[in-house]
Order: sequence, then C-alpha cells, then structure tokens
Amino acid sequence: MTKDIKFGTAGIRGIANREITPEIALKLGKTFGTFVGKEKTVLIGRDTRTSSEMIKNAVVSGLLSAGCNVEDAGIIPIPLVNFNVKDKYAGGIMVTSSHNPPEWNGIKFILETGIEISGKDEERFEKIFKSGNFDQPDWKNLGSYKKTDAVSNYIESALRHIDTGKIKEAGIKVAADLADGAQTELFPKLLEKIGIKFEIINKKQDGKFSRPPEPTDKTLKDLKELVKNDYDLGIAFDCDGDRMVSVTGKGKVIPGDILGTLIADYLLKKAGPELIVTPIATSSIIDDIIEKHNADIKRTQVGSKYVAKILSERNGLFGFEESDGFVFPEFNLTKDGGFAALKLLDILAETGKSLDKLIDELPDYHQVKKKVKCPDNKKEKVIKKVKSKLKRKYSTMDGLKIFFKNGWILIRPSGTEPILRVYAESRSKQRAKELNEIGIKKVRKALK
Ligand code: MG
Repeated sequence: MTKDIKFGTAGIRGIANREITPEIALKLGKTFGTFVGKEKTVLIGRDTRTSSEMIKNAVVSGLLSAGCNVEDAGIIPIPLVNFNVKDKYAGGIMVTSSHNPPEWNGIKFILETGIEISGKDEERFEKIFKSGNFDQPDWKNLGSYKKTDAVSNYIESALRHIDTGKIKEAGIKVAADLADGAQTELFPKLLEKIGIKFEIINKKQDGKFSRPPEPTDKTLKDLKELVKNDYDLGIAFDCDGDRMVSVTGKGKVIPGDILGTLIADYLLKKAGPELIVTPIATSSIIDDIIEKHNADIKRTQVGSKYVAKILSERNGLFGFEESDGFVFPEFNLTKDGGFAALKLLDILAETGKSLDKLIDELPDYHQVKKKVKCPDNKKEKVIKKVKSKLKRKYSTMDGLKIFFKNGWILIRPSGTEPILRVYAESRSKQRAKELNEIGIKKVRKALK
C-alpha cells in the first residue's frame, strides 16, 4: 500500500486500520502539507465512521509536522469542505469512505479552487508521497491547530440561492434519512431554517450504521414507507453527504440521472440554452431535454471531479451523475447533496407540482444495471477484448460504450471493487434487458 497509493475516482480508500492505517494517514498528511506549502492553512473534516477520528488525527499530525496550519471543522459533509476551501484555504481534506461499508475509510484532497485533486496536481502529490521528501521545519515553525465552524456561513449562503418563503408557503412535508453520516450536523439545521415540517431518521454519529451507507432502492426501505404514509418528499444521503437520493410521495426512488434531467430542464428553462455536463454513463433522457432547450451538453469520464472541472472551465450551468451527484457551480463546484435537496424543494414549490407528477412528464427511458465479477488485473484486458470484436460505433472515453440503433451498452471497471459494471439503456424496457444480456455475454466470453 505504501509503495503504490492509487487515486481513483474516489480518492484513496481501503479497510480502516488495515489498509488505511494511521501510518499511511500520517504520511499522506505530511505529503499534503508539503504539497500546499509551509505556513499555509488547510481545512479538515470527517464523517461519522468509527475510524474517522483516528485517521483524521494522524493526518493532522502530518500536516502540522510539515509546517502547515490546520482548521478542524469536525463532522461535516464533504461538500462543505469544498465550499469553505474555495478562496479561503490553501486546501482541504476530508476523511471519509463515502458510501462504502462501515469497516472502510479513505481520504480525499481538495485544492484551493474547491475542486478535488486530479491530473497534474495528483501526479505532483504522488511524487512527493513516493519520494518521502517532506518539509520538516524545526520546533518554532510547526503548524498550528484550531477548531472552526464551517456550517454557519454555508447555511446562510445556501439559503440565499432558494426561495425559502415560497417553500414554506407550499407546505411541503419532508422525511430525510441521513445514513447516520456526515449530514447529521447540517441537514436538520437547513430544514429548520426554512421552517418546513420534517422528520429525520438515521441520525446517529457512532459509526454503527442503521442501514448500509449507500442510498439505494433497497437500503431506503424505511424511508420509502415513511414517505408513502406521511410525507410529500423523501431525501436520503450517503455517509459523506455528497450524494442525494429523492423519494416521491408515492414512495418511488428516483435514479440520479432522471432527477438530474428534471433539474436540468428546470434550470435551462430559467437560464436559457447553457451548458450541461454529465458523464458518459448517464441516461440519454438528458439529450431530449438538451434538444428541447437548444442547449449544449458535454459528456465526461465517470466521476464528479471531471464534471466539476468542465463546468468550471466552460462556465457550465449544471452537472449531474447517474450515481446521485448534482453539481451547481453557481454555489459549489462539487456534488453537494444538501444543496441539491434545497434546489429540489425550490423546484417543487415553484412548479406547484409533486415529484411524481414532474417525473411522469419526462420522456420514458429504461436502464438495466448489472455487475460481473472480474479481478482488477483483468479488467482492462477484458474490455480490450470486447472492443476488438466490435463492428459497431463505440466510445472509449470511460470503459467501453457501444451504441445500438435503439439504445446503448456501457461496460466499465469499478474503481474500488473487483467488478465490471454493465449498463444498458433503451426506450423499451424489453430492449434494455436484452442489451444488458448482450453486454454480459460479451464480458463473460472475454473473461474465458
Ligand atoms: Mg459520497
């Protein structure tokens, strides 16, 4: 692990106290401290995992040892690190493993721009890490440490971007499932400030999750029931609070790219034909909406950091991922679950329609998503082999996307697990299923 830390779309992740140890965390802290430079100040936050305090303390030690000052925001969603870092800190760090199981943990690094580290910066970071050549000032020049409040100014600013009066007036009742994670500090405060009726489930902070931290149709069983009986809208997060999943009044979980399309439709209506950014894996439903508004779309690799980067470079309006990430660059250059929930409330209040109704009004597309087990070292070979036998149009922007007349198949390696994901989409449910089966067959054949 020490020899080859690997940044994926997810930062650095592994089993806590086995792969993500205090020793590694210390070294990563020294690396980041050296990377940003002496006497600079870094903001750090963490999620609620049992190992997060331990890992955070080791990272802090490394930063201080490299002469870097640290401000500690405690338990906060990762988008609050991005939000606060931009223009105010030399960098940010979040100790979290997002939606992974409770035994996992990880560390994410954020640049002074408020965007996650990538590309050339990532290479420079890895070079420092591998060289072991860290800044190590004497006792008079060590970094300083203090606790800080990263929540208040975020709340104030976030609420300025929505019509709180209208939301309150609309009388929308919300149930929220906080995954016992990093949103436990923030989200109830946001809803309280708006002044709407709400109920919160899964709000513990002891790292013993009441449900798996990934918000899916399966894991949101309790929320779905709760919303169906008493509420207009359900909101759920993952453990670090950057992903947001919505549940309709009828208890239906809405996939991220469908909700993203709905939000894009609303924003484009208001802003005119601007740029929407989304990875290659999202539903073609967005293309219909882009056409409707005569707007622009840019497809990227999978990963919200790529989406954020393009949004920033090309001054885009909005970005989203099928994995429930929503980026509003006017407010925060990263996927921000809490802010996405506020925007959704804004849309419901302004349109006066239920989420069920708004979803019904969108065009119909069907996706089937499956996974096939595949050892890490075979992933690339398998994809290459499938590609070599293709006779139709394809794209290799991320994994392999194969285009058919009435749909597409996407085969892509998971960055964290030994699996290949096989997605298929079509306007017809039956065809989506068939395409997915074709994709799985191709992968299995190439695996032999
Ligand atoms: Mg996350």
